[in-house]
Amino acid sequence: MRNFKINLKTILTVCMALTIPTILSAATSFASVSPIETKSAVSNTESPSDTNMEENLINSDQLCIDTNLGRSRLKELLLEKRAVALTFDDGPHPLTTPYILDILKKRHVKATFFVLGLQAKKYPELIKRIHDEGHIVGNHTYSHKNLSKLKTAAIKNEIENTNKLIEKITGEKPKYIRPPYGAINKTVISAIKDAGMSMVLWTVDTRDWHSKNEKSVLKEVDRQLHISKGDYIGGAILMHDIYPSTVRSLDPVLDKLAANEYKVYSINNLGNSESDFWSVKTPIICKKPISLHANPEISKNPLMISLLKEKPKEKVTQLGMLKARKEGNLLIYLAMSN
Ligand SMILES: [Zn+2]
Repeated sequence: MRNFKINLKTILTVCMALTIPTILSAATSFASVSPIETKSAVSNTESPSDTNMEENLINSDQLCIDTNLGRSRLKELLLEKRAVALTFDDGPHPLTTPYILDILKKRHVKATFFVLGLQAKKYPELIKRIHDEGHIVGNHTYSHKNLSKLKTAAIKNEIENTNKLIEKITGEKPKYIRPPYGAINKTVISAIKDAGMSMVLWTVDTRDWHSKNEKSVLKEVDRQLHISKGDYIGGAILMHDIYPSTVRSLDPVLDKLAANEYKVYSINNLGNSESDFWSVKTPIICKKPISLHANPEISKNPLMISLLKEKPKEKVTQLGMLKARKEGNLLIYLAMSN
């Protein structure tokens, strides 16, 4: 019991110190799901196809992680660091991925490619090239379905079939997964956990799939990393290696990063502090007292905390946090430890 009190106090302190402003803004966005906000939340997750998804997740009693919340939290946590990780989703593509790889090779930059099983099956030589050139091959599911709408068996198929394909080609089972659209719920999370994988999110959405314009991609990177503003925050950049415009944007983006003394890391060699915060493992919904395991002093893992289903205009106080915990609306992410 004593330990539990310490835990809770620590967690509340972490909350109050680090995350209240974000929680408040997140609570507002949860509370008022206007069509625009819904669309924007979804569009941050890559594809315009499924505008009701966010709403479905919020209305269900399933676990929901707002990727916007994740991104702003991550930006906050990475504020001081001029470090980015590059990630490319939805490939490999025979016409564009080789150009991306050429540029990365020329510039000695390592990235992470979250590939689709469907594409891996068609283009195993590209998967092999990505791996052989020192990049990380991550799993982006087999067919880019919204996993939060699938049953456990189907989710497992999407994950495992892709893992098997990748392992057959590279000899290594992927460690990282990025669920399409960032769409997750409890079922998805336990499937990822069962597969022994870490879920990787992102903090900078270049919206390259939307603009299909290299200038716009560069502008988004500049804007979201606060480069022109002079703040120089770090982040994990989401791009798609399947568009010619993304290929054309890569050199200018890397030039801009280099000119502003950014370091580009791959996800497996980010310093602890960086990787902790955007490669998230084992989210917990706190219906029970928070376990010892979650105490940052004991686990040595930082925590990210958010409130789900916060009532509009309700202030986030320590009492409110306790209530939220009791109602199962306090969501804790235990960051991944290396
Ligand atoms: Zn995708």
